[in-house]
Amino acid sequence: MSKLSIRDLSLNDHRIFMRVDFNVPLEDGRVMDDTRIRETLPTIEYALRHGARLILASHLGRPQGKTNPKMSLKPVAERLRMLLDRELARGENVGFSPDCVGPEAEEVGRQLEKGQTLLLENLRFHPEEEANDEPFARQLARLADFYVNDAFGTAHRAHASTVGITKFVPKAAAGLLMEKELQYLGKVLEHAEKPFIAILGGAKVSDKIGVIQNLMTKVDSFLIGGGMAYTFLKAQGLEVGKSLVEGDKVELARTLLEEAKKRKLTFLLPVDHVAAAKIEPNAVLRQIGEGLPIPANLMALDIGPKTIELFSEEISRARTIVWNGPMGVFEVPAFSKGTTKIAQAVADNVGATSIVGGGDSVSAVRAAGVADRITHISTGGGASLEFLEGKKLPGVEALTDKR
Ligand code: AMP
Repeated sequence: MSKLSIRDLSLNDHRIFMRVDFNVPLEDGRVMDDTRIRETLPTIEYALRHGARLILASHLGRPQGKTNPKMSLKPVAERLRMLLDRELARGENVGFSPDCVGPEAEEVGRQLEKGQTLLLENLRFHPEEEANDEPFARQLARLADFYVNDAFGTAHRAHASTVGITKFVPKAAAGLLMEKELQYLGKVLEHAEKPFIAILGGAKVSDKIGVIQNLMTKVDSFLIGGGMAYTFLKAQGLEVGKSLVEGDKVELARTLLEEAKKRKLTFLLPVDHVAAAKIEPNAVLRQIGEGLPIPANLMALDIGPKTIELFSEEISRARTIVWNGPMGVFEVPAFSKGTTKIAQAVADNVGATSIVGGGDSVSAVRAAGVADRITHISTGGGASLEFLEGKKLPGVEALTDKR
């Protein structure tokens, strides 16, 4: 990696401002899922073991620049205490600052001792955070000697805590989680082992156009499922009924199909479908057989058994797999089979490097109980998509170059 890593910093006795992604779901002041906190624990523990005075900062939810007790990070501090207790017996050393900037935060930050941790209140209680406001970034920087970014999920946003602050600290480094994300995603773009396949799904073609275009020169096969497949099928002249189609993208879909053909890439689309008149748990399901049109009153909501077979075969031959987006309306059990089967097929190819990103595909992999057989589960849906589009992530660009 061309950027500094936390492993390049001298942490001992220094105050480290670490941007983390603690944007966890809360209900009645309780953390409902602590995956994001646990994912960054290795970086936190690394810093504490090396004698850092650790200041953690995150956003949670969308408070629109105003203080909102429902989006307070206080319950997260409690959960962090518990987790650090279990791992390092350091739980009692986690403090909480009710504001992320200002005299109180600065005072508590100053008093922080080696091996202690301070979690700051939600950065987005201040509108200046998302505005990447310079004086605000300077205030954040005042809290620390060095900066570490471990929040890959917000690396595609230029905010005060991800970009602005880096101008006012002597060194800005990637945390261990950030480093891992960049290593895996970077490897895919630069030297993926072949055959390399990209499995894309989800609602909209428009969200994935950039990825398809950027991967066009890199992959051997595209496997397209989910709602986005129907814009392509329409471009091929299939009757798609009421299935999701982005009318203004049909022409572009046709161009992409032609380009893939010119490049002699495999471009697989669903050949059979599970359809219904409505998206609802008890919908009457209709299996649409291979190559048949989708009746005018129905929408295709999952891939059918033949498609599962076809996609699984292609997946079994790959050496590198990138997957983003569900194969159907995964959140409704009646339409989740295709996504679950694809998750299993990806996991069954143990010889391949598999990278899964995006909320639904990650949930599918977890729900199918195969997460431990995936090489890398990305913590940032939006950020990993932008990375695969070939865009520079501002939060990564802002880190200090190694040389
Ligand atoms: P995205 O956020 O683009 O990854 O899309 C995820 C959403 O796509 C999920 O909420 C799915 O319900 C939806 N989706 C997947 N397949 C279909 C489909 N065939 N028709 C309509 N929506 C779909």
